Amino acid sequence: MGLRMIAQTIMFLSLFSVAENKFIPGKSKVVEGDIYFNQAEKRPLGDSTKAQTRSFVASTTPVSVRWTRPNIPYVIHDSILNDKTAFDAVNNGMKMIQDMTKNCVRFLKRSTEKNFINVTNIGGGCYSGVGQIGGEQTVNVGPGCGTPGIVMHELLHVLGFWHEQSRSDRDTYVQIHFENIILGKAVEFDKRSGQDELEKNISYDFYSLLHYKYNTFAKLDSLDTITPTKAFGHVPKTALGQREQLSATDVRKVLWMYQCTAECKSPQLTNGTTSPTTDRYMAWSEVTYTCTTGFQLVGPSRRTCVPQSDGSSGWSGMEPFCASPANAYYTQYCDMETDCFKLQYGVYSTGAATLRVQYGPTTTEGTGPDFDNTYRSDTAGYLVMEAKGANVGDTASLISRRRIQEYNGDRICIMFYFNMFGTDMGSLTVNANGVKVFEQLGSTDNNSWRMVCRQVNPPWHWSPWWAYYVSLRMDAKRGAGVQGDIAVDDVYVGPCKSIPGYSGVMCPTK
Ligand SMILES: [Zn+2]
Repeated sequence: MGLRMIAQTIMFLSLFSVAENKFIPGKSKVVEGDIYFNQAEKRPLGDSTKAQTRSFVASTTPVSVRWTRPNIPYVIHDSILNDKTAFDAVNNGMKMIQDMTKNCVRFLKRSTEKNFINVTNIGGGCYSGVGQIGGEQTVNVGPGCGTPGIVMHELLHVLGFWHEQSRSDRDTYVQIHFENIILGKAVEFDKRSGQDELEKNISYDFYSLLHYKYNTFAKLDSLDTITPTKAFGHVPKTALGQREQLSATDVRKVLWMYQCTAECKSPQLTNGTTSPTTDRYMAWSEVTYTCTTGFQLVGPSRRTCVPQSDGSSGWSGMEPFCASPANAYYTQYCDMETDCFKLQYGVYSTGAATLRVQYGPTTTEGTGPDFDNTYRSDTAGYLVMEAKGANVGDTASLISRRRIQEYNGDRICIMFYFNMFGTDMGSLTVNANGVKVFEQLGSTDNNSWRMVCRQVNPPWHWSPWWAYYVSLRMDAKRGAGVQGDIAVDDVYVGPCKSIPGYSGVMCPTK
């Protein structure tokens, strides 16, 4: 992390030198050549063919530049706040992208996120990096760039998209008139060497916000630099380079890149209601759960529709249900936000191990979850034992303060989600009434939350009136490496049959 931070700082310091295409009032072509590379060799597009090739190689895997969250944190620099035109354009541009993509991606004011964009109006030019670069990255909205269309163009770069005419297949669609291009600017018309995943999935779009205008970088405004090929002669050259709004294909690109085409099933809630009421819950949309009077909500009050790697989508966290007050009494649920965590659990540890509520990625990125499980949000918590700072074998234990009583003969279940990946991982052991019901030794090998449910065997001293108690203990033991954190979220202890979709297969005794 230390090295990465330093690298970012250096890159950032040199960032202000890249606005080589200054805005000239009255000329529409100036918004181009607006990409900076904030990678190993951060140079504006076309500064060096070599650098460009290398960056284009990176771009053939769009996933590597995609933001890891659908919410893109931003800050607005004072230089924008002082310029009403630019300020309005930035706000409108962000809103238009959100609206057009049905909140597939959202721009949210930054709280403490490590990776974020800083929208500035410093020096000249409209420019941006492509994709998430890591740390703070500048999007400049200089004089003359203050229209929602130009802002959206830059924000599309932020989201990970290159100029449309840099596609490897562009020669089928457009002809470049190199003889009309300003000397030294031909490199701005370079194309990528190979077909990337995006190109395979989505075809060329003349109407993209990311397309050059027909006379971009022309020696004279009256000269054409890029026009549709004969085969596409029906497309007027004036259609190229619009800066009004996302084209239909631009929207599709965003949905594709951020896996927002999948939908979640309508949420079910007996004795309660969910909102909004719609027959389409798109990826990254949220639903809220409310119980009818007299019933208590057990589980999260809000969930997020999260795209899965296989293209499907599923609701985040545990499925909530509405319990009668009597049933709720025998139930304990914690989403690991600070309140319930303190109320319901005590932490005991050996050595230097600690268990604490974490928001957003773990301190050392790539060794623990990026998100909580419940809400899939940067601002929601989960419990983590970080390997860093602890010694091999140190154990942090979560112990329930209250013993949950069995109710009316219903079996008690323990359900929780855990996330363990990284190298030389330790172990997570779960005990109920001193009996081991679950153990994970070592990593699960991918950064995902996994659900575990166990039915608890009645202790030998169970009483004739069917009342027994369950106390829960989870032990997170640090492994040999520093790169393996152990995280837990959404812990439920209560009647098995309350769990929506409960079955003995889902919650075995061991
Ligand atoms: Zn651009």
